[in-house]
Amino acid sequence: MSHVLCLGAVPDWLIAEVRAAGLTVLIDDPQGHEAQVTGILRRSGGVSAALMDRFPALEVISSLGVGYDMIDTEAARARGIAVGHTPDVLNEEVADLTMALLLATLRQIPQGNRYLLDGKWPGGQFPLTPSLQGRTIGMIGMGRIGSCIARRLAGFDVPVVYHSRSPRADSPLRHYPDLMEMARDVDTLIAIVPGGPETRHLIDRALLQALGPQGVVINVARGSVLDEEALIGALTKGEILAAGLDVFENEPSPDPRLFNLPNSLVTPHLGSGTVPTRHAMWELVRDNLLRWYQGEVMPAVVPGSVRRRLS
Ligand code: NDP
Repeated sequence: MSHVLCLGAVPDWLIAEVRAAGLTVLIDDPQGHEAQVTGILRRSGGVSAALMDRFPALEVISSLGVGYDMIDTEAARARGIAVGHTPDVLNEEVADLTMALLLATLRQIPQGNRYLLDGKWPGGQFPLTPSLQGRTIGMIGMGRIGSCIARRLAGFDVPVVYHSRSPRADSPLRHYPDLMEMARDVDTLIAIVPGGPETRHLIDRALLQALGPQGVVINVARGSVLDEEALIGALTKGEILAAGLDVFENEPSPDPRLFNLPNSLVTPHLGSGTVPTRHAMWELVRDNLLRWYQGEVMPAVVPGSVRRRLS
């Protein structure tokens, strides 16, 4: 019988549905069942080529989240293993969180909250803060989520431009093929690109310096996209104004220096983390997995993946 290995906590209702489909579910530990594992349900952790090779009959990986930088998709492709993920169902949610982080960073909402709770208001009004108004936003990435963020920003009446490898034919926004050129022209960066080697440290010291002393960086992409050492230096020296970070190089234990800077706002990878959106993501994880076993087309696979079981 086919076994499905769960990596990380998977909701009970989903485990029940997978069992009801006639599959055996293994929680985290495949010991002794390696030969029967044909599917992986991935919530967290990496899926390397070495892990795939532990399971000679592996056919399908169904992963929670749109990003797949933790999965060696090249190795999966080479082995004919299908890889499903959960794009689109989280776009609006991540865009909402991005706006919240941007506004909270600029208007210093956590600092204001602390000021009030610490009883400082009677001693004087909270200091004036930076503003979103008058800023120019440079998006790094204008894909499914980036375009939802841009749509929201249009409602805030701020100009938006973007950098990606190729321009979007359907976007009237100015495209910068050169990221450094964009950083010189804007004062606010929002990163929403995939992680992985190609985007590693796209935001580095030189880019932060190009952004300038009024610069604000919002990272909702992946921690690897931003050189945190360079960011901490730039925030400490006032080379940029502030940062709002939802993702970190070392999750779930980010560099604690980021916690104590007065001009950095950090959240624990909250992007898609609401009750309805997480449920929708898990439903897509289920559909990707079960459709594979039913010999039907998987609704959402990573680029280059097979999407239907042939036998
Ligand atoms: P898409 O694939 O739809 O969009 C990715 C965008 O990044 C495209 O505009 C793409 O354009 C651009 N891009 C890709 N590679 C590069 C590169 N090397 N240099 C410059 N631009 C690049 O992805 P989504 O919008 O669905 O998701 C984006 C990422 O957001 C995810 O991969 C994930 O890492 C992150 N994310 C974070 C969440 C959170 O909780 N904080 C939640 C969900 C997603 P082009 O190909 O033309 O370069």
